[in-house]
Amino acid sequence: MVIDAGSVLDKHGSILVVLQWARSIFNAFPRGSRLPDPAWAFRHRLIILFAVVASAVITVVSLLLHTPLGLALAQGAIPALVALVAWKAPLGRRLSASLSSASLMLFASMAVQITGILEAHFLFFILVPVVALYEDWAPLATASFIVLGNYAVLGVSSPTRIYSHQSALEDPVKWSVIHSVLFLAMCATSIVHWRIHERARRDGTMLLDRLASQALHDPLTGLANRTLLNDRLSQALIMSQRTGIPVMVLAVDIDGFKPVNDSYGHAAGDALLIELGHRLESCIRAGDTAARHGGDEFTLLLPSTAPEEAPAMAERILAAVGSPVFLLGVELHLSVSIGIAVSSPGLSGELLLQEADQAMYAAKHNGRGGYMVFDKTLATGTLGTLAVHPDQAREWAAYTQDLRSEIAAAKELGRIPEQSRGPETVRRTLESIIAAIELLPEGQQSAGLALPERNALEEFVFHHDLVQHWADTLRLDSIIEAQRSPGADQFWRTLHQTALQDTNDLVDDGGDTVHADSSPS
Ligand code: GH3
Ligand code: MG
Repeated sequence: MVIDAGSVLDKHGSILVVLQWARSIFNAFPRGSRLPDPAWAFRHRLIILFAVVASAVITVVSLLLHTPLGLALAQGAIPALVALVAWKAPLGRRLSASLSSASLMLFASMAVQITGILEAHFLFFILVPVVALYEDWAPLATASFIVLGNYAVLGVSSPTRIYSHQSALEDPVKWSVIHSVLFLAMCATSIVHWRIHERARRDGTMLLDRLASQALHDPLTGLANRTLLNDRLSQALIMSQRTGIPVMVLAVDIDGFKPVNDSYGHAAGDALLIELGHRLESCIRAGDTAARHGGDEFTLLLPSTAPEEAPAMAERILAAVGSPVFLLGVELHLSVSIGIAVSSPGLSGELLLQEADQAMYAAKHNGRGGYMVFDKTLATGTLGTLAVHPDQAREWAAYTQDLRSEIAAAKELGRIPEQSRGPETVRRTLESIIAAIELLPEGQQSAGLALPERNALEEFVFHHDLVQHWADTLRLDSIIEAQRSPGADQFWRTLHQTALQDTNDLVDDGGDTVHADSSPS
């Protein structure tokens, strides 16, 4: 058998066109049942009230027309009862709306019957927009069924009860069709309104969803941002209080990320951050949260992971992060430092995050590319205090501040490259030392300076020595002017020697002061 490929394609093409047409026509209609519950309930209440009042009007008008009391009450009771069932019976939205729609149409039909004024059937038309307030097909179909049935059955079998003009009485079928078409046209205009509202509401909802999502996610990686993380953390801690299962938080920071930016550009750095986001997500389970809250810092929130699983989890992340990343044709090896903290009863979310952060910095100071689980000995100041001359310490702090602002000004003037900036860990240590110096008492020869933990101090001293050498060169090139005074020199030598001492000489569980004479100048 020979198959004509051209005719098969033509046939399929035509089917596709027809299907597309059918889809467009289908999409032109509103979906229905899209009203939010509160809006639907409000409209339903109004329509029921309208139907009950209209039923009362029927009884009153009937009485005014000298109908016997029992019959007048029965005429009003029929639509009223249907409306009350629609109001009270637990029938679901579609059925309730259909019943109240039926009640309104019965009211219109009664109005024609009891008054004998045939024009009263205009009420059918007037009530269509009321029924369309439900923005649903079922009540509109119910109204159409009753009205079209009315024209088809009564209009044809006893036209005098529906029409008054001669031509309708002579050709009731034709006039029933005309009235039916007019009624459907009225429905069509209401459907157009309903569709416009439905579309506007859908667009509004989509916009709100998008804005809500943007407000809660990091735009670069799509991970949760700090706001969402804090929210989930609070929820997790509340749950943890109920279940007794602790919450685990992992602070993850890329090691040496700045050089990637400096060497390959910001766009490459961004690509690396996105890749890390994917890899971190691949390590967690449904119900866990991966967040990025600025720079190269990420946080994982694991609401139901036992503390014993921490090492395995950290190893899993280190392995996932460790496989090479190919950027701009270059193979890069990513490494991260991880700090882990586990909640305990009464610990706030903020403190838990701080503990994870502290553990992460300890992991950095430990050589990077590894993890640390928080424990109390990591808390700042456990190294003890160092006896220093407060004035010399202040001279050093003032000199360092001058140096920083001169370097910042030189960067702004473009005299030194913008990207030359120390690691965040070192900056934090510097700021904690300067803050501690500001607290030293005035007018004393010696005072105790709280020290950061050993690895942080060591890293800081190492880095600050590099900055000092760099500053000397900048001074020779007349880019900066700041000079270190002899007093500032003396303070630095004391701190330097302290950092190089054996840990056992310094760590002081009892909180005793480490004196200046224990650190040769
Ligand atoms: P460490 O091992 O001590 O963490 O050193 P590091 O080089 O990673 O230093 P740090 O964490 O302090 O550096 C973070 C860098 O992240 C500094 C900044 O240039 C860069 N950064 C911050 N936000 C973004 C971003 O949105 N995109 C890119 N490409 N880089 C960013
Ligand atoms: Mg980093």
